[in-house]
Amino acid sequence: MTEQAPYGLKVEARRRPRPAAASRVVAPALSVCRNVSVVLGRGETLVTALAGIELTVHAGERLVLWGRSGSGKSTLLHVMGGLLAPTSGSVDWDGAPLQTLDGARKGRLRAPGIADVFQSANLLPYFTAFENVAFAHRAAIVGASARGTGSSLSPLDLLRLVGLDHKADALPAELSGGETQRVAIARALGQRPRMLLCDEPTGHLDSDTGSRVLALIEALQRELGFTLVIATHDPDVAARFPRTVELLDGRLIRDEVHA
Ligand code: ADP
Ligand code: MG
Repeated sequence: MTEQAPYGLKVEARRRPRPAAASRVVAPALSVCRNVSVVLGRGETLVTALAGIELTVHAGERLVLWGRSGSGKSTLLHVMGGLLAPTSGSVDWDGAPLQTLDGARKGRLRAPGIADVFQSANLLPYFTAFENVAFAHRAAIVGASARGTGSSLSPLDLLRLVGLDHKADALPAELSGGETQRVAIARALGQRPRMLLCDEPTGHLDSDTGSRVLALIEALQRELGFTLVIATHDPDVAARFPRTVELLDGRLIRDEVHA
């Protein structure tokens, strides 16, 4: 199946059957937060970043975490992705407690199937676009072979998916803001995520570039079928997603599915 995607590229991928509207209801729960609270800082600067969050994200869902700056969006993404342990409450991933990275295991283990795209692309500056994708890809392959899964897309395939195979040899400094973010998306897709967590992925881009990058993420989600959670404070971004979860001062104050 081929589809015209943003940036004039053809995204070819294994298309999964699109769930029928009714089956959305019975899609399995992938990420479940139960009564999650997070206290950050220490001493007199303790901040309750999240308080009593109850959130279930189902396989294949696309949802936006919405709220103004400081409302807890990033903290919730970190908890859902296993980068931060909740102070209380629990997080399940794919039916089992999510193992949180801490201490010596940090960076060595990662919940299989979860990948992140951050506001800053955070590419390694002295390595090319190809190498940036290849390093993460290599790490994902090592993890995957230990788990008996495997990635079928090469680093160049991944760059092709985001329309940047012709920039494979470019250094990050030679790429535009939108292009570096597309490399970061390719890098994340190399982990074959079942869930992609995006933290203000267009926050550093001008609005035109931002909406093209967003359209690319959406096209890739349709093709590859991963679950997509995007944090944003931008109402225009939020309006594009079928489910909005709103945070205010660390509390979940709205969880709405739009028609
Ligand atoms: P958002 O992503 O919605 O802007 P965050 O999750 O980053 O919100 O932050 C939620 C709250 O936690 C804010 O009040 C913020 O100042 C605070 N916070 C975030 N990180 C830390 C930290 N490392 N130490 C102390 N407080 C923090
Ligand atoms: Mg944030």
